[in-house]
Amino acid sequence: LLHKGSGLQVVVGLGQSGLSVAHYLTAQGYQVAVTDNQVSPTLADQLPAAVEIRQFGAIDAELLQQAARIIISPGISLKTAAVAAAKDANIPVVSDIQLFCEACRVPIIAITGSNAKSTVTTLVGKMAADAGVNVGVGGNIGVPALTLLSNSEMELAVIELSSFQLETVTNLGAQVATVLNMSPDHLDRHGDMLGYHQAKHRIFQGAKSVVINREDALTRPLVADNLPRLSTGIHAPDKGQYGLITDSEGQTYLARGTERLLSADKLRIKGRHNLLNAQAALALGELAGLPLDSMLNTLQAFTGLEHRCEYVATVDGIDYFNDSKGTNIGSTMAAVEGLGAVYAPKDGKLLLILGGQGKGQQFGELTPFINQYVSQVLFIGEDSQQIEQHLRAAGIRDDDVSLHQCQTLEGAFAMIKQVTESSLSQVQAVLLSPACASFDQFSGFAARGEHFSQLVKQLDNV
Ligand code: ADP
Repeated sequence: LLHKGSGLQVVVGLGQSGLSVAHYLTAQGYQVAVTDNQVSPTLADQLPAAVEIRQFGAIDAELLQQAARIIISPGISLKTAAVAAAKDANIPVVSDIQLFCEACRVPIIAITGSNAKSTVTTLVGKMAADAGVNVGVGGNIGVPALTLLSNSEMELAVIELSSFQLETVTNLGAQVATVLNMSPDHLDRHGDMLGYHQAKHRIFQGAKSVVINREDALTRPLVADNLPRLSTGIHAPDKGQYGLITDSEGQTYLARGTERLLSADKLRIKGRHNLLNAQAALALGELAGLPLDSMLNTLQAFTGLEHRCEYVATVDGIDYFNDSKGTNIGSTMAAVEGLGAVYAPKDGKLLLILGGQGKGQQFGELTPFINQYVSQVLFIGEDSQQIEQHLRAAGIRDDDVSLHQCQTLEGAFAMIKQVTESSLSQVQAVLLSPACASFDQFSGFAARGEHFSQLVKQLDNV
């Protein structure tokens, strides 16, 4: 077999990506071992029989020392003692994405950022499919990247990448690469903003073209000036770039140079942040050769993804939005500003549900947005006290904004009833946008969002 003599490949972490690596490498004829922290990982029975060495219950430091190469899962930190020791012993540590980009023979559109990755990846994937391209969409969303390679007809790969997947990638060589935006997230694992920035910017290594967000200097890559590039932004664009044009009647258009492409109210995804997302998708598609007219049609039909500022229902005149995927302060700022722009000018105010696992973020950065658009903040989850302290320390206007500690979503809904029944309530919309991870109380953001939607529906029944 092809790679029999090339040494032991040790897969660290048995999630969906670890499983895809084990299948991929055994099919190539490598000798593969798998190790995972869990005593009996749920995916173990889906491993190929050829994987004989399976060390579960702890990451096996000795096994790692025998590896010719380690393939690490995004959920496991490079600082894990056994992994760090193997690195010190000069054993190469890579991610599934490294294997993918070495084997992939078709152009790659590579997308990362603190927020909007899934929205933009999904949208670009639809644009390509609607244009008749045989496209594979995966990575940090949907199927693992390596699984896409089993489609021999694939003409284009659209890959969402997390900072964890990028930490160990060299020379990705994408046709187009972008960092959509940068706000503090996962600092608990990357140490600081610099580490996080460095991880994300590995996406540009070997890229043939790039897309830049003019609103966020941290998305600007250190690449040669003559590399083809397109930029996106909220102001009128320079020639050949994407941006927004507002006419004398106050109507906003997506624009490329001076050309108006589409009126903003034709989009079904709302908020200023989504106008940037739409531009990013158009720019990425353009640099991958997709036709503009077809992309604009796809864009108008796109209704967005669940749990991202998703409208749930209107109960007693109050609109409920599920933004459970708002797991960091950047996404919550976008949601509060996006919905605030709709509700606050009409004398209304938002009720915001915030909290969960704070991941070391500085929540004070939310305070100006809350002061402007929010009248009630309801805290849930493990770090709720600390979040309240940060908001207060940053000067929350507590005569205008009421803060309530509610612990759970149930507690929050009891408070919502109390608040909205008061005749003084200005609340017109309720927004779950926690700015936090959900794992203290839920199995993930989707479970949190579904629970929220259920509680909204129960309100409606009584
Ligand atoms: P990711 O895959 O990066 O987590 P998603 O598309 O799932 O991104 O969206 C995550 C969160 O970010 C959602 O709460 C969404 O409303 C918010 N969001 C979407 N676009 C942007 C943007 N351009 N800037 C900031 N937040 C955004």
